[in-house]
Amino acid sequence: MSDAAQNIAEHIAGIRGKIDTAARAVERDPAQVSMIAVSKKQPDDRVQAALEAGHRVYGENRVQEAQQRWSERRAQIPDLDLHLVGALQSNKAKDAVELFDAIHSVDRESVAKALSKEIARQGRRPELFVQLNTGEEPQKAGIAPGAADAFIAWCRDELDLPVVGAMCLPPVDEEPAPHFALLAKIAARNALPKLSMGMSGDYETAVKLGATHVRVGSALFGAREG
Ligand SMILES: *Cc1c(COP(=O)(O)O)cnc(C)c1O
Repeated sequence: MSDAAQNIAEHIAGIRGKIDTAARAVERDPAQVSMIAVSKKQPDDRVQAALEAGHRVYGENRVQEAQQRWSERRAQIPDLDLHLVGALQSNKAKDAVELFDAIHSVDRESVAKALSKEIARQGRRPELFVQLNTGEEPQKAGIAPGAADAFIAWCRDELDLPVVGAMCLPPVDEEPAPHFALLAKIAARNALPKLSMGMSGDYETAVKLGATHVRVGSALFGAREG
């Protein structure tokens, strides 16, 4: 194994260990927390190293980049688990439903409708997370907390979407914990069992507040290109 590959294997083990410790600290079962290795904009040899280390759960933020990286591997590695963590455009819903096992970025009505149409057409039902704009930032995607209950109900009841969880990206200049707590509260009152929250800088906090999916990129692979 090359030095770089060795490094990535160590990072995976180290982050997994911290996730497990954080989970146990709040009496959660570490097995309930999935570590998504966010491979966007990473050189392919790093991703190959993570695969060789046995990691199977990956996240991407662009459909086209994900197709290039994963379409062939998908056929070769049956237990791959692919998550779209970035914004989805409605005209990419077809490709996204074809490729991904989970989509974390259901952030507006048009996207929900496009996904509903494709899921019905393809008969593939990726797990869906509703993205909430917990900081109510005008430039950021996501449903406002005050509109969350109605949006989630509409997705489930009117569109028959397989919504299983909620996702957030806290404002960069704020403590993430109150945002994670708010996300957990909204998910709980809507009976959504899964929480996608926590990135390289704050995944341990997120696990302590109930994350079932942490999305870790640079801490695992190193700094991104471009
Ligand atoms: C890039 C990205 C991540 C990973 O970020 P790191 O800080 O590198 O861990 C997580 N979630 C989303 C939505 C992202 O776009």
